[in-house]
Amino acid sequence: MAHKINAELCTSCGLCAGECPVECISEGEGSYVIDAAACVDCGACVPVCPVEAISAE
Ligand code: SF4
Ligand code: SF4
Repeated sequence: MAHKINAELCTSCGLCAGECPVECISEGEGSYVIDAAACVDCGACVPVCPVEAISAE
């Protein structure tokens, strides 16, 4: 289990990356991406996304 960013919705604003305590969110091509192996499922990134692109898988 890990949180996931919906690439269709993500606008690459970068807000979520600043919230992640383990810094596992980075800018990818066309959207930000979460490193599933590093995500600790804390949920901190979810409420900061303005387009609700992040969800628990
Ligand atoms: S759920 Fe927590 S650990 Fe996982 S990407 Fe979001 S902020 Fe980072
Ligand atoms: S906060 Fe939402 S829209 Fe912004 S980079 Fe993260 S996932 Fe994409």
